[in-house]
Amino acid sequence: TVKGTHKSDFAIYDNFLHTQVSKEKMIENRMNEALKNNEFIVYLQPKIDLSSRKIVGAEALVRWRFPSGQILSPNDFIPIFEKNGFVTDLDFYVYEKTLSTLQKWLLQGNPEIIISINVSGIHLNEANFLDRFLGLLEKYNIPPRLIELEITESIFFKELDRLVLIINSFRQKGFLISIDDFGSGYSSLNMLKTLPIDILKLDREFFMWNEMGVQDKIVISGIISLAKGLGLKVVSEGVETEEQVEFLLESSCDMAQGYLFYKPMPVEEFEKLLDIKSI
Ligand code: C2E
Ligand code: MG
Ligand code: MG
Ligand code: MG
Repeated sequence: TVKGTHKSDFAIYDNFLHTQVSKEKMIENRMNEALKNNEFIVYLQPKIDLSSRKIVGAEALVRWRFPSGQILSPNDFIPIFEKNGFVTDLDFYVYEKTLSTLQKWLLQGNPEIIISINVSGIHLNEANFLDRFLGLLEKYNIPPRLIELEITESIFFKELDRLVLIINSFRQKGFLISIDDFGSGYSSLNMLKTLPIDILKLDREFFMWNEMGVQDKIVISGIISLAKGLGLKVVSEGVETEEQVEFLLESSCDMAQGYLFYKPMPVEEFEKLLDIKSI
């Protein structure tokens, strides 16, 4: 035992661990059934062009709706599924739902819209990921240029050479590639100049302060100008205030995603918002 720690502290910690463990067990026990029951649902969060304030795309974000109606956020289950491998089944379910929705829209003659999906780092080590994904695009007749693959930066910190090859193979097929959550973890500026990507998504952590300090602003506008100089488009995540929008416009940021504009919403709500004809 650690000196100076009361026994009761351990009791509280044990209890905390126990709660975490049983929650994780519950999630693992129910995941297969939940997939069959259609408990996983896809929400869409609009992406806004900052100068015109028009919706230029959307990100597909999964939710878990329990039979009780309770909704679980992906941060509560994606990390568990990345550990036990279930993330592949879940993601392909999400991709299939998303692509079939997009197909419906295209068949009804709606204007084209770019949809982003999240690609777990796990998939980059799966030899058949790209082929399987291309199979889905063929099934739903979706041109790759309408799909943006968001890859989280935390997996970028090693094996940069191999990653360049993988990303290039995606890009050759015509997908847009973005680096997600940039600045939150292991981001390096070297990565920015080496990776063959199209879009940089600035992590929401940069915008978690109600009032941004001078230092924050210097860092954010520095990253934006660096990215723009390298020919990338920049999206800011988690934009919640007009003050942030004003600053981002001054800093030449292209797009934003955040509660100030829209929260992630069910597909039907998104269709209403954009006046999308659907069958
Ligand atoms: P992400 O890809 O970085 O997605 C952005 C997250 O920020 C979303 O959280 C979104 O709801 C949230 N957000 C957007 N604007 C604001 C804002 O103004 N304020 C605040 N407080 N939050 C905002 P969400 O939906 O909980 O997703 C969390 C993460 O889970 C995602 O982060 C992504 O990494 C992962 N994820 C979500 N869906 C999937 C999926 O289908 N597959 C995989 N592999 N991962 C997913
Ligand atoms: Mg994302
Ligand atoms: Mg992100
Ligand atoms: Mg994130």
